[in-house]
Amino acid sequence: MVDLRTQYEHIKTDIDAGIREVIDSTAFVKGAKVTTFQHHLEEYLGIKHVIPVGNGTDALQIALMALGLKPGDEVITPTFTFIATAEVVALLGLTPVVVDVDYETFCMTPEAVEKAITPKTKAIVPVNLFGQNANLEELQKIAKAHNLFLIEDACQSMGSHYKFNNGITKSSGCVGDIGCTSFFPSKNLGCYGDGGALFTDNDELAEKIRIVANHGMAVRYYHDIVGVNSRLDSIQAAVLDAKLPHLNDYVKARQAAAQFYNDAFKDVEQLITPATASFTTHAFHQYTLKVVGVDRNKLRDGLAERKIPAMIYYPVPLHMQKAYRDDRYKAGDFPVAEKLCNSVLSLPMHTELDNEQLSFITENTLEIIRQLDK
Ligand SMILES: *Cc1c(COP(=O)(O)O)cnc(C)c1O
Repeated sequence: MVDLRTQYEHIKTDIDAGIREVIDSTAFVKGAKVTTFQHHLEEYLGIKHVIPVGNGTDALQIALMALGLKPGDEVITPTFTFIATAEVVALLGLTPVVVDVDYETFCMTPEAVEKAITPKTKAIVPVNLFGQNANLEELQKIAKAHNLFLIEDACQSMGSHYKFNNGITKSSGCVGDIGCTSFFPSKNLGCYGDGGALFTDNDELAEKIRIVANHGMAVRYYHDIVGVNSRLDSIQAAVLDAKLPHLNDYVKARQAAAQFYNDAFKDVEQLITPATASFTTHAFHQYTLKVVGVDRNKLRDGLAERKIPAMIYYPVPLHMQKAYRDDRYKAGDFPVAEKLCNSVLSLPMHTELDNEQLSFITENTLEIIRQLDK
């Protein structure tokens, strides 16, 4: 699904030098590299505060902790996403309220969110899924009208932009009160281990986030709130700082691969190619097809036989997961998400796909579709 080796070979000199520098300094935790990367990322995103942490899941958890929510407070999240988004809500004793998503963009719809709001609602957590942004402007309006926090899960959307109606654009993760991202190796901007970050323009929230991520401690060994320990280490920061200057090119490479797939599949009625909403650019963290009229699993198995990886992101919606079963929800409650779980298939998507590989993937996909259709 990804080719981190070839990508590394292109930037080996910079990566190796950065890592070497950290080892020579022995400042493995809270080293200068972390601060340097933080400032470079603030500049890239156009945001006041980037707070690096241990991973994307931590970022989401710390964001919710920084808001000072109480057990029983409700947080609205989409039912079609990676588990981390709701996991942290549940871990903190908050109540996840799940909503359905849009069939075209896979992201939560403002209409569904509006309907799910109750007096206990405190935050909305849209996921900018597969690389494009949810309808953040509408979600922001709803959040403002009901005095709710808007926390973006931007773990898959680094390098994409949200386009406001008035023409202003913002980096993904920088529209909400807080944005959360992951630097997991296969993410759009990935390190060589675990990493994550929170983004905010709000000075007060930034301070609170820093305290929560550092054992609830503003002054050393004085703990005013219960916090966690979550840090990006210096070696990961060195890798990220070497890769950040390439992020825009990486996004372009992903977009070019997506265009190749789109062109190859445009007349294939069994494959619905991914749509990009008018209000966002698409960083194509994943290239996700909807397979209709033929057996999705058979297509995946056929590709596997030809050594082409294809993945189902995600096979089960949140409200149908064993650990998250809840009397409030049952099968059929979120028909779009459930339909997507049965039809989505993601093809290899990364920065190093060349035309030969893409042709191999698309030709084999088309051949299998023809066989299945007989
Ligand atoms: C990857 C991901 C996360 C979690 O990030 P980690 O760094 O693996 O903890 C959360 N939400 C979404 C949508 C993700 O894709």
